[in-house]
Amino acid sequence: MMYKVRLSEAGVHLFDRVSGLNVLLDEVRVPAGQVSRAPRYLSVALTNACELRCAYCYAPKHAAALDVGRVVAWAVELDSAGCLGVGFGGGEPTAHPRFVQFCDRIAASTSMAVTFTTHGHRLTPGLADALRGSVHFARLSVDGVGATYERLRHRPFATVRAAAALLRSVAPIGINVVVNADTVGGLDDLATFADDVGASELLLLPEQPTAATPGISDGDTERLVRWVRTARTQVRLAISRSGFEASVPAVETIPDERPLDAHLHVDATGILRPHAYASAGMAIEGSILDAVQALREAS
Ligand code: SF4
Repeated sequence: MMYKVRLSEAGVHLFDRVSGLNVLLDEVRVPAGQVSRAPRYLSVALTNACELRCAYCYAPKHAAALDVGRVVAWAVELDSAGCLGVGFGGGEPTAHPRFVQFCDRIAASTSMAVTFTTHGHRLTPGLADALRGSVHFARLSVDGVGATYERLRHRPFATVRAAAALLRSVAPIGINVVVNADTVGGLDDLATFADDVGASELLLLPEQPTAATPGISDGDTERLVRWVRTARTQVRLAISRSGFEASVPAVETIPDERPLDAHLHVDATGILRPHAYASAGMAIEGSILDAVQALREAS
């Protein structure tokens, strides 16, 4: 097992991208000058493109996409400064015509975990073959089973079930669910689905307010909390406000870690943001570490 080492204020963090194992040696005091300058993980919206039209989608709708060379250069820079993983999203990352190259080149040129979140409807056996060996974890967005899924995503549920099997042949997988009034009542069925398709985690994403939706209500948030307390499932449950901090398998919560040290996000226009919903950000002109520093100073 080849551990990647990250030095942080919390101690020495060891991470293995193949097994997803995290070990934090919190009894070790790291001198301030040696603390990693990189966030623990980075999410990247490769493209705003997506052919689905989910009502609760927060992704910007203007056309934008990132260039492979630019993203690989950022990844190499962050890798050398202690970043543990990069997670691709969008839009729909597999809609980027060079999606395979992003994964392939970053897996080959860094020791970071490469992960992505997908709706699954563009997966083919050929794409799965091309990604195998370059991806360490993948997330499939499934917001309900059967008719609920089909009403929300306007795609056949059988297709996403087939996508889960294909994705599972590439890497360990998790299932993502946006939790709102439509989906909170179906969490038992989703947990069963996640178990059936061999997912190792069910990630619960309380719906965020956007221009189009008010976000999850207080009542549905209480239902979600009650469900989590009483759920009987073998699948690990995770919950995320931003939806991205759990998108890479390097995400165990570290006490007292500052949010900007844990996770940063790059949108499809190359703006570095504290998270995907943040309105303000910093353009990455060259070095991403310079942009990280500038963002921290501005916060
Ligand atoms: S699949 Fe994801 S990116 Fe596409 S419309 Fe739905 S929420 Fe938005």
